[in-house]
Amino acid sequence: MNHKKKIRVLIVDDSADDRELILMHLRRGGYDPDYHFAETKEEMMKALDERKWDLILCDYSMPGFDGLTAIKLVKERKRDIPFILISGAIGEELAVEAMKTGAHDYLMKDNLQRLIPAIERELNEAIVRRQHKEAEKERDRLLKVIQHSLNEVYLFDKNTLTYNYVNSASLNNLGYSKEEITQMTPLDIKPVLDKQKLQKLLQPLVDGEQEKITFTTRHSRKDNTTYPVELHLQLIEQDNYQFFAAIGIDQTDRKKDAQKIKQHKQVAEELALHSKYKSEFLANMSHELRTPLNSINLLSKLLSNNQQGTLTEKQLEYIDVIHQSGNNLLELINEVLDLSKIEAGEMEIHFEEVKPEQIVRTLKNTFSPLASEKNISFIINVAKNVEPVLKTDKMRVEQILKNLLSNAFKFTSEGSIELSIYQPDADELREVGMDRHKCVGFCVKDTGIGIPDDKQELIFENFRQVDGSTQRKYGGTGLGLSICNQLSQILGGCINLISKEGEGSSFTLYLPENCEQKYEQNKQFAPTNSSKKTHSENSPPSTPQEFLNKNSDLEPNNTPASSHDNFNDEKLILIATQDAEAAETLSDIAEKKEVKTWILEDGERVHEHAKKYKPAAILIDSVIPGWSGWTVAKKLKRSAKTCHIPIWILSTAKPHSLEDTLPEVQGYFRKPLSVKAATNFLDQASKQENKSTSKNLLLVDDNEMHNEALKDFTEHLVDQCYTAGSSKEAFKILESHQVDCIVLDMTLTDANGLDVLRSLKSDQKYAHIPVIIYTGRNMSNSEEQKLLEYAHAVIFKNVGSYNQLTDEISTLLGGREDIQQKQEEATDLYGKKVLVVDDDPGSFFSISSVLESNQINVISASNGLDALKALKANPDTDAVLMDIMMPDMNGFEVIREIRENQNWKELPVITVTAKAMSGDREKCLESGATDYISKPLDADKLIALLQVWL
Ligand code: ADP
Repeated sequence: MNHKKKIRVLIVDDSADDRELILMHLRRGGYDPDYHFAETKEEMMKALDERKWDLILCDYSMPGFDGLTAIKLVKERKRDIPFILISGAIGEELAVEAMKTGAHDYLMKDNLQRLIPAIERELNEAIVRRQHKEAEKERDRLLKVIQHSLNEVYLFDKNTLTYNYVNSASLNNLGYSKEEITQMTPLDIKPVLDKQKLQKLLQPLVDGEQEKITFTTRHSRKDNTTYPVELHLQLIEQDNYQFFAAIGIDQTDRKKDAQKIKQHKQVAEELALHSKYKSEFLANMSHELRTPLNSINLLSKLLSNNQQGTLTEKQLEYIDVIHQSGNNLLELINEVLDLSKIEAGEMEIHFEEVKPEQIVRTLKNTFSPLASEKNISFIINVAKNVEPVLKTDKMRVEQILKNLLSNAFKFTSEGSIELSIYQPDADELREVGMDRHKCVGFCVKDTGIGIPDDKQELIFENFRQVDGSTQRKYGGTGLGLSICNQLSQILGGCINLISKEGEGSSFTLYLPENCEQKYEQNKQFAPTNSSKKTHSENSPPSTPQEFLNKNSDLEPNNTPASSHDNFNDEKLILIATQDAEAAETLSDIAEKKEVKTWILEDGERVHEHAKKYKPAAILIDSVIPGWSGWTVAKKLKRSAKTCHIPIWILSTAKPHSLEDTLPEVQGYFRKPLSVKAATNFLDQASKQENKSTSKNLLLVDDNEMHNEALKDFTEHLVDQCYTAGSSKEAFKILESHQVDCIVLDMTLTDANGLDVLRSLKSDQKYAHIPVIIYTGRNMSNSEEQKLLEYAHAVIFKNVGSYNQLTDEISTLLGGREDIQQKQEEATDLYGKKVLVVDDDPGSFFSISSVLESNQINVISASNGLDALKALKANPDTDAVLMDIMMPDMNGFEVIREIRENQNWKELPVITVTAKAMSGDREKCLESGATDYISKPLDADKLIALLQVWL
């Protein structure tokens, strides 16, 4: 391994022998020289310019060139290269001059053994010189930084405290010159007021107790004005000299910033408070507005029924206007509240997994009737590639689409309205700025009046419409699109409009498939929720008694709406059958037993009689004209007023085979009815308590007039309707009357609704009574949830809310008549009459159950002749389901008979058979059947078949 030290050496000598000699010394001295020879000035200059050198060894006298010139060449180039002059005999003077010029050493050629030590020394010194230079540069840099620092820097003597250095920031800030300040001490710029204090302040640094002290003070300028500074002080020792170094940070701007932040904070707090007041104000106002409007709507609706027939057509028209205006106002209130919620950042969003079909279903149900009314085709397309499940807020998406669709319907008088749900491509998303998300598009396209170009942006603003005139043709508030737009943004999406005046519009809602993700990101920047006050400042009284005690100065003002009206104290047993023998047997035994019976021969009147006369028990023949016995029984069980009446069924089937078929039924008797069975029935029936069928309602609202309006509206649902204006009155009524359901407003004169609710639920006597909150006050979802812990339902006084209320009352009081009726009306088989011809009671039962669950009225016949009779008796029969295998006359014959009658040529007759034999179908169709279905019956198929033929 070569241990020799590398050295780049320039040898300037004209003698080859001398050069070799030098090289030899170098090598001997442990160097591995990377050398170059120069003999002339030019060669030397070239070598200097082209390369870096660690060392120059130079002869003194060369032809046309000498050592002094060589040194100068190096100096001129400002190169610090150790330069050793090697000469023959030069005089002392020349040698001194060479050193003065810049040579680092000189040697005599005959004394070259000094060469290596000299080189080593010079190389070391060169290193030291270089380090020194670096240090100097560093110091200069630091000084520059300090000098130009934006912070003030002061150095002052430890003893005299006079400044010996201040930077330009200090001079600028203080307004003194450098000369002036070096005569001064910190006391002159008053970081503290006197010397003693200053020394005390500096003492911990002097004593070494602290390395640094920091404090905030004010500096006094030359013009005696002052400014705030944060000072950092240290004691520094250098070469046995001690001085203080201070860094001052001017706080003027920071103070200003702090003040600004404080001001902003104050403004923000004020805004939050305002927003809180505004929300509370709006929540309360909504109650104040909705309650009277609700009464207007209720009463105008009642009036429009014109029950006494005393109103003229003109008056009825006015009433409609009142009702419609009330509804419009309620809608406006909702929209204003929605907007204010959005603006206050309080719009609550609930993400869930939503299937596009769910949204489609709701919209189809809502708009199809409108489409047929306006004779516009309403088309819905859902593309196959749409994500099957979206993460979004179903209610809000529906709110947006409902608004877009109702606008489309409003502004379209002919043509079509199309809702398409699809997956937009990348280009489309880029155009609307949604390309960072996987999105779904909901496009509502109409062929209506369209929107002029210059109005297309404006309509998204609050209260703006295309038709800005006062005599607007289309009405509306101009808030809908603004709400839609903001809601779509809250959900992380947007709405885009393409429209041409006179040709139609298409509004597209773009939503991320997962709205929640984007919503969470946005939420961080949204305004925070202002804290909500609870309703009650005081703790709620825990028992109703406490309420009474607390409010004992108030008197009740309730009166029952109608007195309890029992038809008869005697027990009545209702019997529905056409079976004369059974009827006679029953009447005979009843007479002996002194039980009052009422025989009805048709099913349709059973329900009506049961409602009116409240029998203790009912016996129904499963086969009875009008409706089937099963239909009647079910109807009775569904209705609030009759659901408690025990029912027995009379059927040709063995009783045990019918068990559990209709769980609500008390029992079964077999036809023909034996005396024993009849006695058994009447014994059981007469044992039934004439249970109170009365259903009483308590309405609690602080406004008497509104309470009365509500009473008028709900009275028909119940037997008694009590009203109370305060919690005290309410509890008084509860103490003395049976109440089965309470409708409670949230604001009462003596308590708030939540407290009343808690008190009711904490009292054993009343805890079981269902409570419906009916309020005009807007509340957040969490408030609503809190109420729902105690209440059965929370209904807001709104357009159509009274229907919701009556539904809820009916449900709670045991029957679901109203709701049922509405659902019934919604299905297309509702109310159709179908004759089921089957000799097997089990099979008849299963078919009629399927039909009845689809709201079809079933009439029955157990053989061919009966079927023909039933058809004659029911000319409005819509279809026949006919079993082929019957004892006396088979199905084929019956069908032929049917077809012979001119009136029944088109009547759908569907044959039902146990065996799906080849050829059966053809036979059926040959005999005149419309279609064919085989047993065991598939309920869906049966219904689908009926839908086809009806
Ligand atoms: P409103 O319908 O209650 O006036 P919107 O904010 O929903 O409020 O709509 C604002 C306006 O935009 C409407 O009044 C109407 O001028 C215009 N507009 C909205 N949808 C349509 C549409 N499908 N066709 C034509 N004009 C429309």
